[in-house]
Amino acid sequence: MEQTKEYIQTWDLDQIFTGGSQSQSLKETISKLTKEMSKVDESIERFDAAKASANDLVEIINQLGPLQKQLRDVFAYIGCLSAQDVNDSDAAVLVAKSGDLSAKMGTVSSKLNQKLKDIKEEAWAQMIQSQELKEIAFSLSEARRKAKEMLPIDQEVLINDLAVDGYHAWNQMYDTIVGSMFVTVEEKGESKQYSMGQASNMMSNSDRNVRKKTFDLIQQEWQRNAPLFGQSLNHLAGFRLQVYKHRGWNDVLREPLENNRMQKETLDAMWTAIEQNKEPFVAFLNRKAKLLGVEKLSMYDIGAPLGKSETKVSYTQGANRIIEQFQKFSPQMADFAKMAFENRWIEAEDRAGKRPGGFCTSFPNKKQTRIFMTYSGTESNIATLAHELGHGFHQHVMNDLPIQNQRYAMNVAETASTFAEMILADAAVRQATSKEEKVALLEDKIRRGITFFMNIHARFLFETNFYEERKDGMVPVERLNELMVTAQKEAYCDTLDEYDPMFWASKLHFHKTGTPFYNFPYTFGYLFSLGIYAHALEQGNDFENEYIALLQDTGRMTVEDLAKKHLNVDLTKPDFWEKAIHLCIEDINEFMQLTE
Ligand SMILES: [Zn+2]
Repeated sequence: MEQTKEYIQTWDLDQIFTGGSQSQSLKETISKLTKEMSKVDESIERFDAAKASANDLVEIINQLGPLQKQLRDVFAYIGCLSAQDVNDSDAAVLVAKSGDLSAKMGTVSSKLNQKLKDIKEEAWAQMIQSQELKEIAFSLSEARRKAKEMLPIDQEVLINDLAVDGYHAWNQMYDTIVGSMFVTVEEKGESKQYSMGQASNMMSNSDRNVRKKTFDLIQQEWQRNAPLFGQSLNHLAGFRLQVYKHRGWNDVLREPLENNRMQKETLDAMWTAIEQNKEPFVAFLNRKAKLLGVEKLSMYDIGAPLGKSETKVSYTQGANRIIEQFQKFSPQMADFAKMAFENRWIEAEDRAGKRPGGFCTSFPNKKQTRIFMTYSGTESNIATLAHELGHGFHQHVMNDLPIQNQRYAMNVAETASTFAEMILADAAVRQATSKEEKVALLEDKIRRGITFFMNIHARFLFETNFYEERKDGMVPVERLNELMVTAQKEAYCDTLDEYDPMFWASKLHFHKTGTPFYNFPYTFGYLFSLGIYAHALEQGNDFENEYIALLQDTGRMTVEDLAKKHLNVDLTKPDFWEKAIHLCIEDINEFMQLTE
């Protein structure tokens, strides 16, 4: 029998560029790409929309594609360097460098898109029918259509340039202030300092007093800095609204929907299905309150564990469990995971100086991915690892597509990851050996639903209402608190005792300038993957190839077309969404029976 080998918990970045933040080959690549960027820029300048042929465009695309691929490798590599060691000052310099490069690349692409916009409709229709362009017609036409909705190029360039210090800077200032915040917690007569992230992890402590006390301390600390965050949030929102106004865009959802390639009808159908199916989730929260011995849950109780603490699972054991469960659904997914563990594509070591959180990043030129997380042996670590491997697999099946078709939006990006997570969660529930274990695992699964249907719903409601009020001027801190509590009450159906008024400050997603409405795509991804999961269970063995075909199409069509083509469903109608939610409700029913 083959000896089980231990997997190494640190990643190997030298396969991408050697030498880390002092890499010579990285430096050379950056200067080579900078030169190539100027060359493409010149070709675009020469491109004459009135006379251009399909061949002229192909020529530019052939220059642009490899450049974009290599740049993405560079950005991803720098991202990995800064995550693995927050004190690496050379990496910090490279991060700034990649910001410049990406702004430059953005300008080059916008210039091309503006030229595409000027091509006459008839000529365009013919052009994208050509052999070389047909395959990437969707992304080209999308870019062209978007360019039509923008201001003239010189104005857009000016906005981009001013945004570096006038818009994105608010996001950076947010990060800086949060980085300097901490709470002091008294533990066994000793006072200990915790970062805001560490402190919020204590919301999963089994002692309610600890949770409540820490929650209050956290609230005080956010409240103390609320005037600063109120300013920064209002200003970044103000900037965004000004840009929209000048472009003639009235609806704040226009950009996020466009980014996610989805229709308003789809978003509405999704939320409607959720709103109409909240009753079982309310019943679950009330049951959890009973099990915890309180009349009503508060925000700080939602993450409280039921039952005893979990046993630790070693990294290699966790890895093997993931490979084994993936195997049942898709041997190709299992092979991919195994290869990622063996080739050290994963940074999982539990050590100081690493950035918190997890991510998966792609190197389309090298056709590799890297996963970043901190593994300490908990069930939720295994879930994270599976989640990130899901992202990695998604990229893996797209490696051979044209780079233009490898760009997919956040809502479908979160589909492959959630799907992978679900495979593990389901298997864990099935294999539970005691009633207590089963209850705890089911609770964990249902809590995910609570996050997507209630917590993220509240974020969406808050953000929508905040932006509406912001159109008429600055929204004061007291009003932000009020808007947040109102949104939470609606989203949680008034089930909770204490809410979290400072959530508009503590949730960094509201302060992310790169992506407006960093919320509903998560819920979409979760429900969409539940729908695929239900489909997979029906399909059995035929499923693997269908799933891969669906993933491969995520970068070249709208979500409505994707669902129609691969699942034969209409996302603008509530049926699909309801069916997906019902998978969650089945878990709740089982949970309710077991805890009767
Ligand atoms: Zn993810």
